[in-house]
Amino acid sequence: MTVDDGAADRPTACPRCRSTTVGVQATSPVPGVWTLFSCSTCLYTWRSTEPAENTDPDHYPEAFRLTPDQLATLPVAPTIPPLRAGDAPGGS
Ligand SMILES: [Zn+2]
Repeated sequence: MTVDDGAADRPTACPRCRSTTVGVQATSPVPGVWTLFSCSTCLYTWRSTEPAENTDPDHYPEAFRLTPDQLATLPVAPTIPPLRAGDAPGGS
């Protein structure tokens, strides 16, 4: 049995980081309506029916683009503060 995994219209690059690590996450219950893609490099996920600014690397907003090199050094936001004395898990 062959499963249509949407490979025919699979994007060649992630809109956000332009990696080629794009896979099919899911397809619509009614075949051929939409395909959910995701990038295993930056974890960006998008549906085939979204506008070009969400699905096309050349139209993705520049301010939100990432490079694979940036992923390892992205800051955690919001910053997680250190535990206060007495707040340790299991403490009382
Ligand atoms: Zn990506």
